[in-house]
Amino acid sequence: MAKTMPGLVVASSNGRVGITEAVDVLRTGGSALEAVVAGIKLVEANPNDHSVGFSGLPNLLGEVELDASVMVGQGLTAGAVGGLQGFQDAVELARMVMEELPHSLITGEGAARFASEMGMSPVELLTDEASRIWRARLEKGQETGDVSQRRFAEKIGEIVRRVSQDPEKPAPPHGTVNFIARDREGRLAVGVSTSGWAWKYPGRLGDSPIIGAGNYADDRWGAAACTGRGEMAMRCCTAHSVVTFMRCGMSLSEALTTAMQDLRALDDPYASEMNIVAVDRDGGHGAASTTAGKTYIFMDESMESYEEPTRMHVPLVDSPRCA
Ligand code: ASP
Repeated sequence: MAKTMPGLVVASSNGRVGITEAVDVLRTGGSALEAVVAGIKLVEANPNDHSVGFSGLPNLLGEVELDASVMVGQGLTAGAVGGLQGFQDAVELARMVMEELPHSLITGEGAARFASEMGMSPVELLTDEASRIWRARLEKGQETGDVSQRRFAEKIGEIVRRVSQDPEKPAPPHGTVNFIARDREGRLAVGVSTSGWAWKYPGRLGDSPIIGAGNYADDRWGAAACTGRGEMAMRCCTAHSVVTFMRCGMSLSEALTTAMQDLRALDDPYASEMNIVAVDRDGGHGAASTTAGKTYIFMDESMESYEEPTRMHVPLVDSPRCA
């Protein structure tokens, strides 16, 4: 039986705009799932965050494609959407997939159709500012939005690498929001939302909508969620690994460290940053990053505002870019 504790919310640092709302949901008796959805919706609506929801940076064609997922630690129920265009509340839609459909993941046109059927209002996700950033970066690389699909495939690695390594970049080429909530009864929920890697190949899904890669929750052991290069978390099942390592008896920080060290086995010319936030079944929390100095946030019902500790640094030793 889990210990009764004040409700807790843990998030990636770009969850600052939503964490108080999420804790308020717990304070008023809402579920952990309701808390993560409420927090993430505010991040998705934030026009200053170009990595999530409205105003996210687009794919190579200039289209904003959103990925999101939710998982509930009791019964391991989950829902996700990928490549969603034209609707802002990707995490709410992921929740609806979980609750309304006999499926776990809906993508592309099917996701947009489902949003419309659920009564969501269409939104132009691409803002002028995000469009300017997208165009400037393509023009810098002498790329235009109308070269052939084949050329896109050939060029995308080069573009992503160039963008990732550009020290003067006006905004990071990627980013995601993670929220994990634990209610007073010890029930866990996790939510993840992103516009994915900017300039991605159209239709590319990252780890965020893939249960076990970008998120996982099991009330018996804990929950975890990732940001960073999704292709790495997908290949190592990173969020699931953290929870499984706790199941096998590791502490939260051992589980985080081991899951990060697993990434070192990846042969990946695009190896990049990876970040994990996690909560154990007793409400302990922690976070890790391949980049030194990164932070995460947490707040429980007894606190007036969030705290922002530094994450454990676990470098990808085989990749000098991330050391
Ligand atoms: N994990 C996200 C993705 O791969 C992006 C990010 O968090 O930076 O789509």
